[in-house]
Amino acid sequence: MQLTGHNYIAGVASAEGAETFFSVDPRNKETADLPFHSATAAEVDRAVAAAGAAFAEIRNYSSEQIANFLDEIADQIEALGDDLLHSADRETGLGLPRLTGERVRTTGQFRAFATLLRDGAYLRPIINSEQPEQPSIRQMQFPVGPVAIFAASNFPFAFAVAGGDTASALAAGCPVVVKAHPGHPATSEMFAQALSAAAAAKGFPAGTFSMLQGDGIDVGQWLVANDGIEAVGFTGSLRGGRAIYDAAARRPRPVPVYAEMGSVNPVVITQAALAERAEDIADGLVASITMGTGQFCTNPGLVLLQDSPAAQDFIAAVTEKMSAAPAGVLLNQTIAAGLESAVGQTTASPDISVLTGGEAVADSDFFCFSNTVMRTSAAAIRADDRLQVEHFGPVTLFVVCEDADDLRTTVDALEGNLTSTIHAEANELENISDLLHQLREKAGRVIWNGFPTGVAVVHAMQHGGPYPATTAPGTTSVGMNAIYRFMRPIAFQNVPDALLPDPLKDANPLGIMRLVDDVYTDGAV
Ligand code: NAP
Repeated sequence: MQLTGHNYIAGVASAEGAETFFSVDPRNKETADLPFHSATAAEVDRAVAAAGAAFAEIRNYSSEQIANFLDEIADQIEALGDDLLHSADRETGLGLPRLTGERVRTTGQFRAFATLLRDGAYLRPIINSEQPEQPSIRQMQFPVGPVAIFAASNFPFAFAVAGGDTASALAAGCPVVVKAHPGHPATSEMFAQALSAAAAAKGFPAGTFSMLQGDGIDVGQWLVANDGIEAVGFTGSLRGGRAIYDAAARRPRPVPVYAEMGSVNPVVITQAALAERAEDIADGLVASITMGTGQFCTNPGLVLLQDSPAAQDFIAAVTEKMSAAPAGVLLNQTIAAGLESAVGQTTASPDISVLTGGEAVADSDFFCFSNTVMRTSAAAIRADDRLQVEHFGPVTLFVVCEDADDLRTTVDALEGNLTSTIHAEANELENISDLLHQLREKAGRVIWNGFPTGVAVVHAMQHGGPYPATTAPGTTSVGMNAIYRFMRPIAFQNVPDALLPDPLKDANPLGIMRLVDDVYTDGAV
């Protein structure tokens, strides 16, 4: 595939800006030759205007039409072939096995949404028919309009130009303008070509999809400030997500921002679990911390346990395994510098002991940071919120609690996270119930005797959580419910049947499941 280094605005390559940047191979820090053009303010405006024009058309499309478009996108991504894998591997260092799996997940997301749309019940039609003292009220979900998506650095496929946010927004019936991540611009352009080709193949307006390149915050700021954008999806740092959330709130007409940001994913291990399975838990924990060089939003960054000889042995075993594990490749210079700075700030605390690692690997050919284990006390983490900061890499912090009460008080002091995990034994279920439900308050997903990395793309998945994990804890960015970030319910009161959308008509012409007078049915009213 011929790459241009240009933005893709409503299907047309565009490079009006003088500012360029280059893709860098994290394995050898070498810069590629092709310059990528950061979008200008005028190009951002053009992409959003085209998205607005597209919305005027596609908001009338049937679920079946949109489903066919999503299937076509999956096909077009597959048609990119292994060039896509090699491009992403060169730009991220994530390795072909991981990227091969991520591609399956990415195309799978589009096809799963297509299936959801064909079933029709995702529109959530609710009908309360006319009663003597009550009007007819009927509601269903509608797309919100043009959506801005910020691609993540750590998932060049599954959370990027054609990632889950884009898939769920398009599935909702919303045009999308993506701000590509500067860590993988060539891969982003390949996806932009695939999405543009899919729009053309299915006769969708070209403005249904645009992709803007950019290295620096300007492009994103222009995009979020544009009044034509109705919602924003973001995955990345707390600092970036919060800045975008604030920018959207500052607009004369604020819009929702669905930002998935920092998370330390606390893991609690009981004494009974340690007595029974210390070696297995240590192996699983180290594999989870170092998976993908720790660059997962679900990386277990905080481990809480009660002090005991067994706990001391466990911490020593994890430390030994972490220092024996080879240092992995970090995605890019920004991630490497950010990790060094975050760990540096944490280790500056007198309450932190570094058990292994704690610094960048000197003179490495690739971007890397030593596998790091730190330790602190429960009292220290309760006294200083900064010790709960995300260290985005192969890093974990043990929090040693004096006793069960100390542990419970510390769990109460935890910030919001994407996940929380508990390792316990079957014979302590009664004792553990309160603790488990305390952990529930701190996260979007509670894991029993497992590890938080690995997020299944299924209906029941909840990938979200209280701030600072996200800015919208009532939503998920993984799984089919992700679509509702980009839809909103509209109720029709006493509107004549002929004017109602098909899913709300008396006869139920689409034959879809509806809640009619408090009963789920696919029949007519
Ligand atoms: P990032 O710095 O938050 O950037 C993500 C995207 O947002 C980029 O496109 C970036 O644009 C844009 N952006 C950042 N700040 C902005 C602002 N103030 N206004 C407008 N746009 C803005 O994330 P990253 O580059 O992927 O990695 C940096 C750090 O984020 C990591 O070290 C890690 O701590 C964290 N991170 C967390 C997760 C997670 O899932 N929890 C995932 C990835 C990264 P430019 O890059 O063009 O400036």
